[in-house]
Amino acid sequence: MIVSIMTPTPGFGNDLADVARVFFGNVQVQINLPGGDLAVTHTEQEESGVRRCRIALAGRYAASAERTAEVSEDPLLEKRYHKRLIKQTLFDALKAATGRTPPWGSLTGIRPTWLLYEAMDRGLSLEEAEKETREVFCVREDKAALLREIVTVQQGMAQSAETDADLYVGIPFCVSRCAYCSFLSGEVGKGKELPPYVEAVVKEIEATLALMEEKGLKPRAFYMGGGTPTALSAGQLEQVLSACRPFIRRAREVTVEAGRPDTIDRDKLSVIRDAGAGRISINPQTMHDETLVRIGRRHTRAQTEEAYALARAAGFAHINMDLIAGLPGENLDMFLETLAWSRALSPESLTVHTLSIKRSSLLHLWEAQLPDGGMVGDMVDAGRREAGMRGMRPYYLYRQKYMAGNLENVGYALPGHECLYNVDMMEETAHVFAVGAGAISKRVDVKKGRIERAPNVSDVSHYLARTDEMIRRKKELWREEWT
Ligand code: SF4
Repeated sequence: MIVSIMTPTPGFGNDLADVARVFFGNVQVQINLPGGDLAVTHTEQEESGVRRCRIALAGRYAASAERTAEVSEDPLLEKRYHKRLIKQTLFDALKAATGRTPPWGSLTGIRPTWLLYEAMDRGLSLEEAEKETREVFCVREDKAALLREIVTVQQGMAQSAETDADLYVGIPFCVSRCAYCSFLSGEVGKGKELPPYVEAVVKEIEATLALMEEKGLKPRAFYMGGGTPTALSAGQLEQVLSACRPFIRRAREVTVEAGRPDTIDRDKLSVIRDAGAGRISINPQTMHDETLVRIGRRHTRAQTEEAYALARAAGFAHINMDLIAGLPGENLDMFLETLAWSRALSPESLTVHTLSIKRSSLLHLWEAQLPDGGMVGDMVDAGRREAGMRGMRPYYLYRQKYMAGNLENVGYALPGHECLYNVDMMEETAHVFAVGAGAISKRVDVKKGRIERAPNVSDVSHYLARTDEMIRRKKELWREEWT
């Protein structure tokens, strides 16, 4: 289906396209070009400080909706509220036309908790902020309650001080490519890039730690992710983690993403443990071997069980597990079996992802379709019940484009096992020094709501050739005159 949106505000075209995709999935949307299967006509008028927005649908669906909102004198707020008004009016029209009520209402952003924080900054209580989210954005009651629960847990966690900073080290390699993966730069063994990559990363880490020292910043959380860091050999892991030692020694939390069970062995676990990591991730995604084959994860359920046993024997007291709801070929019963199976492995935290088909993934290349949103919604709800039954609480949430059912990814943890780094990333409340190809550093000023980013180049060969420039980018981000 092609959706044609005729609008006097083409600057909000992408936002309107996002709302259309909430209802129709990854359809083609054209702005100010007639001729689609569904024609959306947006008009608006302004009178006495009030803007009246009208949306009419014709073609495959017919309906209309109208909303009004005051025009703000603050240019920033004006832009935000204007966009919100148009999106909500389109949402109303599409809801009336299709009879569907998407779980997250008209919200299309990736961080819905921000709405609650923003409302609380305006003086609303958490309960009032939750109510506003339900009423203004038509967010379903259970989803709004989930946001409230998450904000409550986050408020009880160690808050980041202005002088705290996280360190992220990215290893964009893996042992094979999962069909849904969009993170990967390369498969280990296909090239000779690993040794020079480790060397470059170590150089960047050393320069980064010196910069943090110079700026008087204190270590908060360390996270080594990817790709799959355990795609490195034990010796290479040792090299990278040794360079991070001055940070890790003083950090509140240290995580290494082991990720793929088939990359884990005793030696690597010893290196990670001896480096000071208290938290690792071992991610089965599903217990079903036939699904693992289908999605190109070259490991088995038995390998996951072995990896958990090895990690426990090595003394890891916090293991996180990632699962995906809606994997190709899976139904609700299969997901329930995965949840039940995972109980025996007793991870201290559990992240339930919803399948999304990212543009750079193999699933997108294969033109795979997302599974039924209702079924995936039941899976996600089952994940939430299961986590609750184990005493875990939801503590971070994010959404992505092109997700099954327009749902969400949620991290659950036993009390005291919430990952600071995950919350820092989602809520953008801490500085991040990010090292490695594709890693993005961030400098934040929470009080002023200012965030500036310094991205590293994603391509590994460019990263190797331009490591000094990546270091300079971080120095520039931390220039003196930043206010
Ligand atoms: S294990 Fe992770 S990094 Fe490796 S291919 Fe799969 S999703 Fe990508």
